[in-house]
Amino acid sequence: MSFIVAIDGPAGSGKGTVTKLVGKRLGLINIDTGATYRCVTLAVIQKGYSIEEKEKIAQLLDEISIEFKRENDEEKFYLNGEDVSKKIRTLEVNKLVSQVSHIPEVRAKMTDFQRKMAEGKNVIMEGRDIGTNVFPNADVKIYLDAKPEERARRRVKQNEEKGIECNFEEVLENIKFRDYNDKTSDVAPLKQAEDAVYVDSSELSIEEVVEKIIEIINKKKKE
Ligand code: C5P
Repeated sequence: MSFIVAIDGPAGSGKGTVTKLVGKRLGLINIDTGATYRCVTLAVIQKGYSIEEKEKIAQLLDEISIEFKRENDEEKFYLNGEDVSKKIRTLEVNKLVSQVSHIPEVRAKMTDFQRKMAEGKNVIMEGRDIGTNVFPNADVKIYLDAKPEERARRRVKQNEEKGIECNFEEVLENIKFRDYNDKTSDVAPLKQAEDAVYVDSSELSIEEVVEKIIEIINKKKKE
């Protein structure tokens, strides 16, 4: 039996940071599903394929290996044996990832992979369609949102801390573009599950969001 907490929401809503912290506090394994799509996107870039070459991309899925490992308390992603945890966060990947993630074959394969990663474990999983599609029976579902400008500001700060150069306007534009792509997709669009709790983090500190989510999880556990 496993206990599953699903955290969905748009790019830069704070899902990543909050999921890590809540996971640590409650002893849940943190699974970043966006990173799985980022790995496929990096493989597409490395091969030099364009987004129009959908058949080649679908074929590529059988040729690559993606692994998820926990090392020194950190989650690492490996593509074909190489640690790509940093490479998957560049603007080049950001620009292409939502389009790659909307290819039905990519979606199907990654959904499968995400379910396998969670098998028999107590996990907190963040993404776009965890509560609606990957784990429709998740024990707790949260939809974490924030205003686009606030999300862009956070992403810039996060990138700076990681030593990745970027510019606010460009990041904001990319966030709006990804929101549009994610929400209007025919394949698993980003939307709040009916039974998800909505949390707006625009005016909240990370610690406040963490506390709120822990409260929601603990309340569900008692039900
Ligand atoms: O969360 P992150 O920004 O790393 O996600 C990267 C991209 O992967 C998103 O913009 C979205 O297009 C896609 N994604 C998805 N389904 C998920 C997680 C991410 O389609 N469960």
